[in-house]
Amino acid sequence: MALPNWPAPHVTMLHELLASGAPFSEIAISINRKFGTSYSRNACIGKAKRLGLSKTNNSPRVARTRVRNNPAKVREVRATRVKFTPAAPMTNEAGIEIKLRDAPVQPLHIGLLELTGENCHYPYGTDHFTFCGQKHLEGFPYCAPHVALTTKG
Ligand SMILES: [Zn+2]
Repeated sequence: MALPNWPAPHVTMLHELLASGAPFSEIAISINRKFGTSYSRNACIGKAKRLGLSKTNNSPRVARTRVRNNPAKVREVRATRVKFTPAAPMTNEAGIEIKLRDAPVQPLHIGLLELTGENCHYPYGTDHFTFCGQKHLEGFPYCAPHVALTTKG
């Protein structure tokens, strides 16, 4: 249930998290966790639009948009983002194993509220998210290995 008007502290937090490059799904989770609200991801997107806020060009969404015209590839990207350390190898419809891509970096697994503009924002996990947290590469929301991971074709 969306509230008609967001209290100022909620808007401030939305602002800060957007500036940090966090995805809307995680913005909603962390605002809800902090204020006991129940904003949906779409509510956060709508509010950001109404405020005239937009995400930075460095968001992971850019990579997803680039592969939109290739359905097989889009599925692989989504699988990579949603399923973390699966118990059994994942396979596609043809029974071919899908290889999860990973970067040669030891993630610090820090929480969303601990993230600063200096940390790599590469997410880990499904229900409970943590972030890589290594020092980000200048001009990117991710560390060098994660920039390489998310920008190569
Ligand atoms: Zn990283």
